[in-house]
Amino acid sequence: MPAVLRAALFLVVAACMPAGAVERTIFLTFDDGPLNGTANVLYVLEAEQVPAAMFMVGQHVLASPERGALLKRVKSLPLLTLGNHSFSHANNRYERFYADTEAVVADMLKANTVLGLSAPPPIPARLPGRDVFRLRYMSRDDFGLSLEEAQREQVDFEFVAASGFHLYGWDFEWVHDDSGKPVQSVERLIDEIGHLFAAGRTVGKNKLILLMHDEMFQDVFQGKEKLTALVAGLRGKGYVFGHIADYDTKTSP
Ligand SMILES: [Zn+2]
Repeated sequence: MPAVLRAALFLVVAACMPAGAVERTIFLTFDDGPLNGTANVLYVLEAEQVPAAMFMVGQHVLASPERGALLKRVKSLPLLTLGNHSFSHANNRYERFYADTEAVVADMLKANTVLGLSAPPPIPARLPGRDVFRLRYMSRDDFGLSLEEAQREQVDFEFVAASGFHLYGWDFEWVHDDSGKPVQSVERLIDEIGHLFAAGRTVGKNKLILLMHDEMFQDVFQGKEKLTALVAGLRGKGYVFGHIADYDTKTSP
């Protein structure tokens, strides 16, 4: 091919490509607060000016005045979205909890009262122990459940959603051990996120909801340092951080 043609072809191809790489958005979510670790999470999010969703547990708010003050702090920070993560956290006995649909709905509504989540519905929420989506444009059950469990609990998911909640699951978890200590290193986590995007294995295209737990960020686990390193590392890869309310868009597959 003559050089001039090759150059023209290059220009045509370049014009058809987007200006930059595809924008990939990460939605940071923190569950189970207020707990030890929550103050460090808030410190880093504010210092780095990163949006995030805090899915909080009603009975943890009532545990002490300090915990109640952390809830107030979340509500005072415009970058943060307060979400409902139930009142009781199912007392960590999930099968038993989801066997009583009315009690599940009542538990979620009780948490609304404690968290001061009144209006307007739908309230952003995450069910305890269940990776379930019930959004305007996206609905998905928990792939970790057996078919039997999923069928049995579907009624819970539908009733909670119908009671004024948007349910957010997650794509990926920064796992912690029984003591709350993060399992993956920051570098490993960023690598894993890169692989998920590259393989197209996120629930929504080019967006990823990352699940973390407040207790992972206690001083004893170098919480501030690790979360700061995560934010910097993800920014370094060109990801942007999104507000959870912008997750549910019509373009979702
Ligand atoms: Zn939880």
